[in-house]
Amino acid sequence: MFKNIIAPVQAWLLVSGKCVGCGTPLAKGKREKIGEDKERVVCKCGRIFVFDKKTKKYRRALFEEV
Ligand SMILES: [Zn+2]
Repeated sequence: MFKNIIAPVQAWLLVSGKCVGCGTPLAKGKREKIGEDKERVVCKCGRIFVFDKKTKKYRRALFEEV
């Protein structure tokens, strides 16, 4: 039953620019340019995200981006 709760919380954390694992602001993460409008952001807890500069949104990195 927790799955139904966790997914919206993770989505909300990402929208606020925070790591879904530890809640640390992703602005503090290690950034690396991976494309014209994309940055890979590695949180201190090891989770990897992609920041889209066009939409200014974070999302979990896809398998091939890790
Ligand atoms: Zn984290």
